[in-house]
Amino acid sequence: SDHDLTYPASPAAMDWSLHYPAFATTNPPSIPKNDPKTATPNHDAQNPIQQISKQVQVADIGCGFGGLLFALAPKMPSTLILGLEIRTSVTEFVQEKAKALRIQHASSGLYQNVSCIRANTMKFLPNFFAKGQLSKIFLCFPDPHFKARKHKARIVSATLNSEYAFVLAAGGRVYTITDVEDLHLWIAEHFEGHASFERVGEEELEGDECVETMRRETEEGKKVERNGGRKFVAVFRRLEDPPWP
Ligand code: SAM
Repeated sequence: SDHDLTYPASPAAMDWSLHYPAFATTNPPSIPKNDPKTATPNHDAQNPIQQISKQVQVADIGCGFGGLLFALAPKMPSTLILGLEIRTSVTEFVQEKAKALRIQHASSGLYQNVSCIRANTMKFLPNFFAKGQLSKIFLCFPDPHFKARKHKARIVSATLNSEYAFVLAAGGRVYTITDVEDLHLWIAEHFEGHASFERVGEEELEGDECVETMRRETEEGKKVERNGGRKFVAVFRRLEDPPWP
């Protein structure tokens, strides 16, 4: 059950410095006292939200134990990467692993850019990320939910794709991989049928190291490899919004 999950009222209400302390700014902006517009419970003069110097740009949705996160983090050390995971114990595992890796790599400063939060990503994604904030979203081996009556439980749908479109910058990419062909076809149909996305061609994918990392470094990708299964990859580009008529 996810009834005990809490969500920030808006992206600005998240205290990201708890997740990326190395990127915290030393002087959080002062907030005027007694200003009813800014004095929300999460954002008041006594307890200002600590700011960070950059925003999360990469999200791994349903990150599991974080294999992809920890492979990507040292490849893009100045980009903030966030896993979102619904299982409490798995989220804690990823958070603890990030802390341990930061200590282990203190001299190089690696892994300061990776963290994980517990969230049901089928709800309130725009509460965490502002419009156009993300450059990459990964959907790796999402739970397939075969039965027709469970289609609503799929992580790709017309409605959710509009949320991915909202949080992605124009030119940003959604990376998907699954070993379930039926789900792969469903994913392709729903992104290709969405006005904000186009499929990225095979030739272009060959030069994208995120694709190889996603195939090789996800826990599920490794499992499928061991079992000799197939992996279906599809990547979609966020298009520019058309001008208003
Ligand atoms: N992405 C990882 C990988 O490729 O190895 C894990 C894949 S695992 C099959 C699917 C993960 O998605 C699980 O860890 C599950 O708890 C998580 N998950 C399922 N539904 C979710 C939701 N609505 N929000 C966030 N995480 C979810």
